[in-house]
Amino acid sequence: MEDVTGQGTVLIVEDEPSITDILEITLKFHGFRTYAAATCREAEELARTHHPDLLLLDVMLPDGSGWQVCRTLRAERDDLAVIFLTARDASSDIVGGLAMGGDDYITKPFKVDEVLARVRAVLRRSRRDQAPQTVLRHADLEMNEATHTVRRAGQPVDLTPTEFRVLWHLVQHADRIVTKDELLRQVWEYEFPGSTVVETYISYLRRKLDALGPPLIVTRRGLGYTVESPR
Ligand code: CA
Repeated sequence: MEDVTGQGTVLIVEDEPSITDILEITLKFHGFRTYAAATCREAEELARTHHPDLLLLDVMLPDGSGWQVCRTLRAERDDLAVIFLTARDASSDIVGGLAMGGDDYITKPFKVDEVLARVRAVLRRSRRDQAPQTVLRHADLEMNEATHTVRRAGQPVDLTPTEFRVLWHLVQHADRIVTKDELLRQVWEYEFPGSTVVETYISYLRRKLDALGPPLIVTRRGLGYTVESPR
């Protein structure tokens, strides 16, 4: 869109000017277009005007929290990548933030090189997610959307259409927490609060997939599920 450099557009949301400055200088030097906001309100305005690819989002802002900004903007655009900048390191905050739609987080104080590496990694991942795909590969798993076939370790896995859609969504978003609500919306296309249908399908999938290799779908208690990349 507005991206003339090919690197991407980053909106920095941070109320500490020295942090904003160092991030802007670094990202611009490496070919990113940047915008900077110091409040939630400004962040939402700039995001709607300039359509950034990624938000570097401070959690504690003068007029509210970065979590809220993330939730609001991701509800409008689910292709917006978000990395939280957080001084807190309480894992519940971090997991909460990731469940709220963040793609990654960086704890302050940070090294700018680390920020740059994370920005590139998250953008690479979100571009891959947006690209039309008919074949998904993850470790020893291969899914073909056109033929609706699945193989694990070379062995065919017979999935129902719904099982296929659940697994496709999880693998497409590998390495992040996929909540049960998200699966309900994406696979069943409606809200079905309190439903145990997701758990049921996850257990069907596990029965079929885990017969052919190590456990693939990790339960994140109270949050959802993750398919993790092999280390
Ligand atoms: Ca702050």
